[in-house]
Amino acid sequence: MKRYRNKLGSLFKKHEDMLLISSAILIFVIFSLIILPLLLITIVNNDELPNIERLSIDIPVKVYLHKTGDTVTLDLEEYVAGVVAGEMPSSFEFEALKAQAVAARTYALSKVVRGEKFGNSADHPNAPLCDDTHCQVYRSEQELLELKGSDWMKNSWPKIKDAVATTLGEVMFYGGELVEQPLYHSSSGGKTENSEDVFVSNLPYLRSVESKYEDEAPHQSESISISFNTFKEKIQNTYGASSINPNTIKILKRSEGGRVEEIQVGDKTLKGRDIRELFNLRSANFTFAFDGNNNIVFTTRGFGHGVGMSQWGANGMAQAGFNYKEILKHYYTGVTVKQVN
Ligand SMILES: [Zn+2]
Repeated sequence: MKRYRNKLGSLFKKHEDMLLISSAILIFVIFSLIILPLLLITIVNNDELPNIERLSIDIPVKVYLHKTGDTVTLDLEEYVAGVVAGEMPSSFEFEALKAQAVAARTYALSKVVRGEKFGNSADHPNAPLCDDTHCQVYRSEQELLELKGSDWMKNSWPKIKDAVATTLGEVMFYGGELVEQPLYHSSSGGKTENSEDVFVSNLPYLRSVESKYEDEAPHQSESISISFNTFKEKIQNTYGASSINPNTIKILKRSEGGRVEEIQVGDKTLKGRDIRELFNLRSANFTFAFDGNNNIVFTTRGFGHGVGMSQWGANGMAQAGFNYKEILKHYYTGVTVKQVN
């Protein structure tokens, strides 16, 4: 009986051991199949989404200088001031300069973050940013002094630095993520463009919106006359089109903002952008006519690609009493402005 009890006891013991072992296996399986992947996803996600805590105004900004071929490392806010000076007239309203500062800072941080993750542009592999229109025009204090003179440095430079300082660290977010392409242009001609109608990607914050306050913008309506023979030759040589005559040129499709998307020229269908680039037009928002002297006359509206913030429109909005956040939210659909430290 005793032996039997002992046997029974050891059986129970074995059973307990087995229970312990199977619990341990179960916990291990749950951990490796469910908890571990969840942890990993969280870590990877944190790495992929540049959330507000990870962004900082202390991030040094490397800028490639096209003229000298040097790469310089700048303080973010110093870089932003140099961009506002390079991209917008200092005579513009203070709120427009502030909007420009936030757009320039957002662009800079987004380029730094993306450069770290995916590498920099092939045009400047050692720096996320450069100093000309390829990225954003940046002017150093020395360049500004040479370009604009000491009076400008005394009277206008402090205004730009103030606009940058009063928006210290402020950048735009869309859906919890840093806005990646805060594009801007000189003037839209009355309506901005959807990003996909001008460039490739469809970005939710780059939608076509009205730009009502561009009255003071230069190049609102500009005509350029080109001899029809030159026009014909250039199109033939560049795109191999034939049968080009006044009756075979037709605008086929316009974008929401008014830019020519498709134009028939002879036996080819071209983009409005192709015509803009080939003949140096101010914008792809154009009409054309023939003047009776063998010339084709293009009349353009606005200046630039038309996507994102219109700088002249921003200045007009500021004159009408809108503040920089209202300006940014008008031109960049659905964004919020937040400060990073
Ligand atoms: Zn660049």
